[in-house]
Amino acid sequence: MRFEVSKVLDAIEARLTTDPALARAVVDLSEIVRYADLDGGRPASMLRLGLVIDALGRHVSEENVPVYAVVPRGLLSDADLTSNERMVVRRWADDGVVEVVPQLDDRVLEVAELLGLPVLTRTRAEQFRDRRPWVEEPGRLLAAVPGAGGPVLVARIGRGEVPAVAEPSPMGAKLLARVWSCPEANCNAYGSGGDPDSPFADMRKTTAPVAQPPPSLRSGAPTCPVHGTRLRDAGPRPAVEVLSVRIDGVVRQRFAVSTDKPVVVGRAPEGGGVMLGQWLTDDARKWISRGHVRLALNGGELTAQDVSTNGTGIRPGGSLDDDDRITLNRDETRTLAANDVVELYAGVNVGRAKLWATGGVTQPSSVMAEAPTMAIRKFER
Ligand SMILES: [Zn+2]
Repeated sequence: MRFEVSKVLDAIEARLTTDPALARAVVDLSEIVRYADLDGGRPASMLRLGLVIDALGRHVSEENVPVYAVVPRGLLSDADLTSNERMVVRRWADDGVVEVVPQLDDRVLEVAELLGLPVLTRTRAEQFRDRRPWVEEPGRLLAAVPGAGGPVLVARIGRGEVPAVAEPSPMGAKLLARVWSCPEANCNAYGSGGDPDSPFADMRKTTAPVAQPPPSLRSGAPTCPVHGTRLRDAGPRPAVEVLSVRIDGVVRQRFAVSTDKPVVVGRAPEGGGVMLGQWLTDDARKWISRGHVRLALNGGELTAQDVSTNGTGIRPGGSLDDDDRITLNRDETRTLAANDVVELYAGVNVGRAKLWATGGVTQPSSVMAEAPTMAIRKFER
């Protein structure tokens, strides 16, 4: 059983991010782990994060939806968690996939405000209403409650509709336009990398500047939420465009393309990129090259470059008319207009994430697939 739990925690880890471009909701991990009514189990359990992540996937009808988890430091030594769970959270903290803060205060709400994301919480955030009046807007606070097919998200205010496409607040946009540097030597969120001659330099994991989490604002000054130190402005942040892979109407994955990091999409791109193989039919798999199309962002323009054997289609404005379809042959590049859709094979598309408001999948795959039956038996009635 321990082995199964580890597999679930690995599946959950793949859905954790503090990257402003990719996170879809914010959670306080210390709150989520105590939702004992979700599984009727121990006072605290990390598996509940998986249940809540699954609920978010169903809520937005999308596969592979990542969450931004804020972890108050006390949780790392919480005796209600198993030693294995505590170890895993520490590893997540070291890897920078969660944000560990000395005190929670209203950091979860701050992140949600700066990034324009919903908060998955059962609280009503009453004590912060003066500072953050938006918590009373429909769909901004979503509570995970037990449901027939697993936990569901219920809006505290409004009717639980899918939250509008997230837009950072004006202050969030300002902060996300810059790269920030923390004076603490071992800051993995806003690290300058520290001393490059240190014997530990290679082991240090520092968030890429483009994916840095939003700074905390203290007395109006950008501050490291982890160390409480004032952050230094280290220059402009590379621009980012968030794209989606959509296969036969289902959004499988979002990914970010930035000015400093082009991304190759294909069946199984070498050296990273977006791998589609697992979602393709046999025919699509035969047609699509290992590395098929390269997306890049240059001077604010998103471009698609064919790097395949069979060519890449562009559907201007998302047109379904085959007469409009443009074919890029190997090494040809085209600038993508706002609604253009890249077609690797019939039904296998890449486009800007905001093109597809709903993910189109009724039952996204679960991070709990490997969970011991004990943890999920409550939903198998
Ligand atoms: Zn720091």
